[in-house]
Amino acid sequence: MNGKLIKLHDKVFKPFLGEDRILEAINKMADQIANDYKDEVPIFVGVLNGAFMFVSDFLKAYQYPCEVSFVRLSSYQGLTSTGIVETLLDVPENIEGRSIIILEDVIDTGRTLKKLVHLFSQTNAKEFKIASLFYKSEIYNGEYAIDYVGLEIPDTFIVGYGLDYNELGRNLREVYQLNQTNMINLVLFGKPGAGKGTQAGFLKEKYNLKHISTGDVFRYNIKNGTELGKLAKSYIDKGDLVPDEVTIDMLKDEVEKNPQASGFIFDGFPRTAAQAEALDNFLESKDMQVDATIALEAEDDILVSRLLERGKESGRSDDQDESKIRNRFDEYNQKTAPLKAYYEKQGKFHSVNGIGEILEITERLSTVIDALA
Ligand code: AMP
Repeated sequence: MNGKLIKLHDKVFKPFLGEDRILEAINKMADQIANDYKDEVPIFVGVLNGAFMFVSDFLKAYQYPCEVSFVRLSSYQGLTSTGIVETLLDVPENIEGRSIIILEDVIDTGRTLKKLVHLFSQTNAKEFKIASLFYKSEIYNGEYAIDYVGLEIPDTFIVGYGLDYNELGRNLREVYQLNQTNMINLVLFGKPGAGKGTQAGFLKEKYNLKHISTGDVFRYNIKNGTELGKLAKSYIDKGDLVPDEVTIDMLKDEVEKNPQASGFIFDGFPRTAAQAEALDNFLESKDMQVDATIALEAEDDILVSRLLERGKESGRSDDQDESKIRNRFDEYNQKTAPLKAYYEKQGKFHSVNGIGEILEITERLSTVIDALA
């Protein structure tokens, strides 16, 4: 395969899997499946659009009688209010008593798979099996067994061989992965009230970054009464930190939801040594890294008055009571402040004066970020 970088829309991709590797994996899958099904006539069901190339090469490699069909699911996440999966192209007719083998291009978190299983479990097929050409085992939720796998791949964003980035790239014969070298990932550091959220709002526009505020995600979950929200509420109400296991998983989930981001601003994360280490390991597994941790510095008394003022407008209960605010500062001093040394050791820690006009502070932060490039 040629080693050239390619550009699709605004992103650069680098070669990842050559045509030979892909076809070799498909031949193996075809042999395995033939072993199990050559004595009957299975129906292979490709999942559009991504699987069209895989289905084509797979069928050429499968040398026994079989039928082929396709399904296409809407991009709607989860189930509809009626509990019915929305399909744009439905399951084939006349599948009563037949063996179905679903051909998927890639299984990552398992969201689409859940919809497929839901769809096929309502039919009168004899059985259905799942075959996926690519499989991201690191992030798969493990809910259903995957019966046949072509290639296990790490959790990177891929295009080509049927897979797209905003519809481009499907016609490439090879698979490419996102070239992350242009990415900027920032940690905004500082006590409650230091202005992390406000500044993140400006920086995400200026540098085209995805802003993840763990506090905002918790508040969103509390507002919507989710399990996560119920769990977090008691801690947040007291001004305590939510346990690491919960927060780390949630953060990973937020990053996974944005595979095409050109970088992230982590606001309010990490707040403990365990979170900082988990973030480093997680980013490394995705060929990413924290590029800079920037602290917004301000004195406690100024922060307390800012937070009380904010509490009047936002109604946030943890901003309305000085003792809760002081408790959050204590949590910060004990658990979060030591991260300064962690990032200093990596040569990534930068300090910025957080007192002044909002735009002036954005300028100070931009000076640090521009020097990273
Ligand atoms: P914030 O909006 O960042 O001030 O966060 C509000 C509250 O959410 C905190 O006081 C914690 O209870 C909780 N929280 C937010 N981020 C984290 C985190 N990284 N670790 C633990 N708890 C967090």
